[in-house]
Parts: sequence; C-alpha cells; structure tokens
Amino acid sequence: MAGLPQRTPMNDPATLTPAEEQAFLDEAAAHCRQRGASLTPIRREVLTLLRRQSGGLKAYDLLDRIRAVRPSATPPTVYRALDFLIDQGLAHKIGRTNQFVACNHDCHDEAGLFLVCPRCGRVTELRDEAALAALASTLEAAGHTLAGPEIEISAVCRSCSGAHANAC
Ligand SMILES: [Zn+2]
Ligand SMILES: [Zn+2]
Repeated sequence: MAGLPQRTPMNDPATLTPAEEQAFLDEAAAHCRQRGASLTPIRREVLTLLRRQSGGLKAYDLLDRIRAVRPSATPPTVYRALDFLIDQGLAHKIGRTNQFVACNHDCHDEAGLFLVCPRCGRVTELRDEAALAALASTLEAAGHTLAGPEIEISAVCRSCSGAHANAC
C-alpha cells in the first residue's frame, strides 16, 4: 500500500535492472577470481538473493528462498556460502539483528556504516569517507580498532518514522 520507499542512497538493490544485477554479479565473480577464489553457482545464488532483498535477509528467509530455486539446498550449504561471501567482503552480517546483506559498495575490504532500523529491521549500507575517517582517528585515539568492517548504528528508517507520525 505504501509502496517502496524512495529514499535509499545511491543504488537501492530493489531498483536494480537485470543488466545492473548481471554487472554486479560479474564484478563479484571477478573480485573472487582476483583473490584466487570462485563464485560457485550456490554462492552466486545466495548473493543474488541478498542483493535483491533491499534491507537484508534473516538466514531462515534466505534458506526458504534458496530452496525455491534449489530444493536440495541444506542449511549447512547456505551457511557455507554465506561464510564465503562474508570472507570475500561481498556480504555483511549484521549482528544486531542476525541478518545478512549484500555489500553495497565496490571497495569490499573497507569498513561501512550500517544503519539498522530497530522497528522493521531494514539495513542500509552507507559509505561516508569523512565519517569513517573521523571515526577511525577517534577509535585510534581511544586505543581501539574496529573488530570488523560492519559498523552498526541503530537508526529508525524513514518509512517507520513516517508510519509512526501517521499513527499519532
Ligand atoms: Zn560493504
Ligand atoms: Zn524501519
């Protein structure tokens, strides 16, 4: 009823054309090859499903969707594919909500800011060089380093804050 939110930064996965999706997967395959790894069919399918799902997927949702295209898929197969994609920097795990998202930028080994909506669970990956650089020097000054590339921030998304305003 509300339709798709029109506010996602840069490339909202939901708006990818088939050609853009193909280019995304080709780039991912090339990224793996450069690292001496291979984007096998199951890994490619998992990445495709993550990329199509704006805002991330829980593992069980992902498994259901994989089974629709590959009925023989088992949870260990899907988890192994996810681990591979995360190792390659092609996907991220959001610990706060236990969700998986396709990486939304090209520099897969660099950190990203992940806005996680506490109401609907939507995840938005942002690349903000200035914010990341400021954060890195603040962390360093405090004697800490990032434990992983996913910097999670709890932030209510626009559609949820809009829905709330309408309800009042
Ligand atoms: Zn990323
Ligand atoms: Zn939300």
